[in-house]
Amino acid sequence: MGLRSFIVMKDLIDLKIFARPDTAIEADIAAKICEKHGFIFEREKREKGGGVHTIVEVIEPPTAKTIEEEPQEQLELRAPIITFMGHVDHGKTSLLDAIRKTKVVSGEAGGITQHIGAYSVVHNGHPITFIDTPGHAAFSEMRARGAHVTDIVVLVIAADDGFMPQTVEALNHAKAAGVTIMVAINKCDLPTANIMRVKQQLQERDLMPVEWGGSTEVLEVSATKGTGLDSLLETMSLQAEVLELKANPKASMRATVIESRMDPGRGPTATVIVQSGTLEVGEPFICGPYFGKVRTLINDLGQNIKKVMPGMPAELVGFNGLPNVGDEVIEMETERAAKRLSDERLEEIRLKKLAVPRRSSLETLFANIEDGQRKNLRLVLKTDVQGSLEAIIKMLHEIKTDKVDIDILHSAAGPISEGDILLASASDAVVIGFNVKIESTAVSVAKREVVQVKLFSIIYELVDQVKEAMLGLLDPETREKPLGHARIKQVFKLTRGIVAGCVVTDGRIERKARARVLRGGQSVFDGHMDTLRRFHDEVPEVRNGLECGIRVAGYTEYQEDDVIECYLLEKFAQAL
Ligand code: GDP
Repeated sequence: MGLRSFIVMKDLIDLKIFARPDTAIEADIAAKICEKHGFIFEREKREKGGGVHTIVEVIEPPTAKTIEEEPQEQLELRAPIITFMGHVDHGKTSLLDAIRKTKVVSGEAGGITQHIGAYSVVHNGHPITFIDTPGHAAFSEMRARGAHVTDIVVLVIAADDGFMPQTVEALNHAKAAGVTIMVAINKCDLPTANIMRVKQQLQERDLMPVEWGGSTEVLEVSATKGTGLDSLLETMSLQAEVLELKANPKASMRATVIESRMDPGRGPTATVIVQSGTLEVGEPFICGPYFGKVRTLINDLGQNIKKVMPGMPAELVGFNGLPNVGDEVIEMETERAAKRLSDERLEEIRLKKLAVPRRSSLETLFANIEDGQRKNLRLVLKTDVQGSLEAIIKMLHEIKTDKVDIDILHSAAGPISEGDILLASASDAVVIGFNVKIESTAVSVAKREVVQVKLFSIIYELVDQVKEAMLGLLDPETREKPLGHARIKQVFKLTRGIVAGCVVTDGRIERKARARVLRGGQSVFDGHMDTLRRFHDEVPEVRNGLECGIRVAGYTEYQEDDVIECYLLEKFAQAL
C-alpha cells in the first residue's frame, strides 16, 4: 500500500494485535486495514499448489504526484526570485517600495498594493518577483527547512556607511546558500556617500565589481530619489537570463510557503511562490502535515485570480491548519488522498518528536564522512572580541589533514544569535562559541533545529576538539561517553565561590570528568568539573539519587533547574 510500517503497526495495535514488520497477519485483518486506507483487498485462488494467495489492488496510491523528468520543450522561462539583504537601515525596505512604486505608477492595472510578503513587477515585458521579508534569519530559516526559493540575493549597502556587521552576516548567509549575489549601493544621493570605499570593501571580500574586471554586478542607486532603479531591474533580468531559470507550467504543481498567518475571516492563509506547474483554484494539495483544496488565490494587488504561474507569488486560502514557512504545497490527485497523506505525516511527526534526528556534530563528523556525505567540517564561529576571533581562525586553518577541510561559514564577535543557529541548521554546520553567551531565543531554536552548539573558554581546548574531530576521520575513536546528569536545585553563593546544589538524576557524576551545563536541553557551557562535594567533603564520585555540590571550572552563572551533564571523552591512539 506504500504506507510506512509504523502506520500499519499502529492500526494493528488498534485491533489489539501487536505485530512487528515481519509478522504474518490473518487475511481478514489485512482486509480491514486495506479498507481503512482506501484499498480494495482481493483474494486470488491459484490452481496449482492449491494455496490461497492474497493480493492487494492499489486504487489510489497515497503519495503526492511524483515529479517526472521535465521534457525540455515544455520548460518555459520563469520569473527570477529576488531577496534583498543587508544591514539594518541601509534601505532594503525603501528599495523594495521604490521599485514597486515605479511599476505601479507606470501603469500596472488596478488594485491596491497588498503586503503579502512577495510581489512581482514587470520589467521590459518580463516578470521579476521580490520576496518582501528582508532579513537573513528568515532567509536561512527557509533554507533550513529545505526550501530553496531565492535565485538572486541583492546585498544592499548604504554608500555612507559601507560594510557593517549585518552586511557581513547577510553575505555569509547568501554565500552558504550558493545563490547569485548582486550588490546595490544605496543612498548614493547623500553628500557623505563614498562609493569608492564600498567598492574597495567588496573587492576585499571576493566580490570584485564587473567594472573592475570582476564578476559581481554592482549598481549605484538611491531609493529616495529613485535613481538607478531601472538599471538595477535590467541587471536582474540579465542575471536571470544567464541563470536560465526555467520551469514547466504543465508539470504537477509545487509551491513554497514564504509566509503564513491566521486570517480572522478566511482562516489559515499563506503566501506561496510557485516553483513548477500551475497553481489553480480547486486543486487539492498537501503541505507539510496539512492538506486542503485551493479555495481562493489573491495576487499582490489584492485581486482574486484563477491561476498562478511558476516564479509568481500569491496568497492561498484553503489549508486545514497553519502551514510552516518553508513547507511545500504539493498538488494531489484527490482531497481524500491528500487527507490520508496528511494523517500519515501527522503520525510521523508525532513519532519523530520521540526520536532525535541525526545532525552534524563534532562527534559524528567522522561517521558522516564515512557515509561519503561530507568532506568538510562546517563551522559558525562566535567569539568575545575580534582579536580572539582572528587568533582562532588562524589556528583552525593551521590544522592540516588530507581528508577534511574546515569551512567557516560565518565568524564574528558577539553572542550566538538565532540567525547563527539558523545558518548552521540550513548548512548542517556546528556552532562554536568562545567566551560568549548564547542568546535565550537561540537556545530554543538550537533545540528545535538540533544544532550542536559547543562553547569554550580556553582557546587550545577549542582548537584541540576541532582537531580531534578532524583526526577522527582517520580513526574514529574519540567519542563522548555519558556518565550521568545532575539537576540544580539551588544555587549557593559561598565565600569560596558559587556552588550549584544538585541532585544526581541518573548515572553518576565524577570529579575528574568533563561537564557541560544544559539549559532547556541545550548546552550553555562546556568544560570540566572543578569540585565535587558531599556535605563538606571532596568526593571522587556521586551516584544517582544523592545530593551534591558542584562547581564547573570557569562557570558561575548557574540557574535552578539547569542540568549538569557529566561525560568522558574517550580517546584511542590516533595517527595522521
Ligand atoms: P532597512 O532597515 O534596510 O529596510 O532600511 P529602510 O528602508 O527602512 O531605510 C532606513 C532609512 O534610510 C530610512 O529613513 C530611509 O528613508 C533612508 N533611506 C533609504 N534609502 C535611502 C536613499 O536612497 N537615500 C537616502 N538619503 N536615504 C535613504
